Amino acid sequence: MKNWAGNLEYRSNSLLSPRSTEELQEIVSSAIAVKALGSRHCFNTIADTHGIHVSLENLGAVPEIDTVQRTVRVAGSLNYGTLGAHLEKHGFALPNLASLPHISVAGAIQTGTHGSGIANGSLATAVTAIELVRASGALVRLTADDGDDFRAAVVGLGALGIITHVELAIEPSFQIRQQVFQDLPWSRVLDDYDAIAADGYSVSLFTDYSGSNIPQVWRKVRHEQSPLATPEDFHGARPATVPLHPLPGMSAENCTPQLNVPGAWLDRLPHFQLQFTPSNGNELQSEYLLPREHAGAALGELRELSGLIGPLLFISEIRTVAADDFWLSPSYHHDNVALHLTWKPLQEQVESVLPVIEERLSPYGARPHWGKLFASNAADLAGLYPHFGDFRAMAEHYDPTGKFRNDYLNKVLFNH
Ligand SMILES: Cc1cc2nc3c(=O)[nH]c(=O)nc-3n(C[C@H](O)[C@H](O)[C@H](O)COP(=O)(O)OP(=O)(O)OC[C@H]3O[C@@H](n4cnc5c(N)ncnc54)[C@H](O)[C@@H]3O)c2cc1C
Repeated sequence: MKNWAGNLEYRSNSLLSPRSTEELQEIVSSAIAVKALGSRHCFNTIADTHGIHVSLENLGAVPEIDTVQRTVRVAGSLNYGTLGAHLEKHGFALPNLASLPHISVAGAIQTGTHGSGIANGSLATAVTAIELVRASGALVRLTADDGDDFRAAVVGLGALGIITHVELAIEPSFQIRQQVFQDLPWSRVLDDYDAIAADGYSVSLFTDYSGSNIPQVWRKVRHEQSPLATPEDFHGARPATVPLHPLPGMSAENCTPQLNVPGAWLDRLPHFQLQFTPSNGNELQSEYLLPREHAGAALGELRELSGLIGPLLFISEIRTVAADDFWLSPSYHHDNVALHLTWKPLQEQVESVLPVIEERLSPYGARPHWGKLFASNAADLAGLYPHFGDFRAMAEHYDPTGKFRNDYLNKVLFNH
């Protein structure tokens, strides 16, 4: 069994699909090593185990909407595309989505997955409760009232337990319009990135760091909050007249509708449509998140590295993520800029440039995306997260024998 990108084969010795929470509790309590698999979209070994893999696809498929509390309770294995369609049918929405709707809710929140938008937190910020099976087999439900346990568990890297269900805050459905702009001058971005990032509900810049212009800006606005006419000019960029794919030369067929046409939130917030392969399909990814006030300086560093990284890159996406309160969230207490790199499938070469990028971005406090390729280990990461040691202690408390641990967690958390 491989991950979505096909760059790694999992080493588990079996895959079990429990049909009830009780069956899952049995499996977990008697296992020596066990991990949940989501939709397998991570690029590193975070989801791997030498023991048993569990898929939760048979646990509770229909989301339960609470119209009074404005929450939805979903199985952790549900993907955002299916959840979005259900919410939309009932007149509700999530505040934001990642670039693709294919990923599972539990897998996404565990790694701090995010979309873009200066006021939009990561997908984990919609979580109001999680239900997880601890190493002992006990089922617990955690909410913000549980304080530290909740703040540790929501972006929990799969280290605290196996999530059966998640409750998410919802809001009334809304419409989004999406417009791509071309050739945004780098000078405008380096002078005042905030002005550009804040000019829309969700703004993404796509570049390979070469040249004097950024080839594409994807701007998503809330239909009810913004005049219908497409601006002639977006900070020096011009509106595209045909739909575009963020990767040069690829057909826009698998992308969500553009050209400023209003549509439901779930059909515009992701860049890619559920029924198609997202992005390129044959690629690797890395991403670094750092405080937005350093955006200009950090982007300058990557521009200086464009000769080194350009030949390995398909494209890079620059986004924003609002601060949150989850201990291991890359946006913990920082309003961030996120520098995402979509690499060609050349893992050895990519891994050789990651330490160079990390050294350049280190002065700005860059934290890597937990689900993508990065070089840092626990010693490098500990200083970036004020509650790193507390999280480790919490993981040991929830999982004293280390059955949810794997080589990845040993490297990035425990340094074994
Ligand atoms: C084409 C593409 C585009 C992407 N775009 C974005 C983007 O826009 N923004 C972004 O931030 N990221 C993005 N990513 C990265 C991706 O969203 C994350 O890696 C996310 O974690 C994938 O979720 P998953 O369900 O596939 O998790 P998996 O890879 O299956 O698992 C991830 C981790 O979650 C754990 N896990 C899964 N299910 C459970 C559960 N039920 N209980 C406990 N732990 C669980 C696993 O054990 C593992 O530790 C993209 C990835 C791809 C391939």
